[in-house]
Amino acid sequence: MGEIESEIVDLCEIWVIPSEVMVSKKLATAMLFGVASLLFTGFCISATAANPDTASRERENAAEKYVAQKIQLWQDRLNLRNWDIRFQLVRTDKLEPKTLGNINWDSDVKKATISVLSSYDYTLPYHEMLDDMEFTVVHEMVHLHLASLPRSDASRRVEEHAVNELARALLKLAKH
Ligand SMILES: [Zn+2]
Repeated sequence: MGEIESEIVDLCEIWVIPSEVMVSKKLATAMLFGVASLLFTGFCISATAANPDTASRERENAAEKYVAQKIQLWQDRLNLRNWDIRFQLVRTDKLEPKTLGNINWDSDVKKATISVLSSYDYTLPYHEMLDDMEFTVVHEMVHLHLASLPRSDASRRVEEHAVNELARALLKLAKH
């Protein structure tokens, strides 16, 4: 765990959806259709090549259920029930290098999406992987409580550290 911890400093990227972006939603939707259909074509072509075996797919499904459960539990514990929090398991190419997850949110409508690294890209043993995923969930949710604080490049690093310490303490408390 010690080695992983030093890396956790850069655990996540945080995306706040600025309201200006929300205004151009129609254009974004139109573009999304384009992207979605491209992706679909791409997926059809590569589906056979990257077809995960049954055991891997079952592992991913179980991880998905686990993360869903943990999000509900921690949303309750962290008193974030007024937020609509969704999640997705994503491959490494959807995350910043050396990160295990990210969160984006819109404080105005209280909606957030947490991305957690997919089990397909985890090299940890099953139970350690699940613990790690839970850590990501708690870490990202702690960020939500800090969502209204001003943020700069300098404060981000300090925030990451504080969020890691809080998430670690909360998980420790929950396990005893
Ligand atoms: Zn973070």
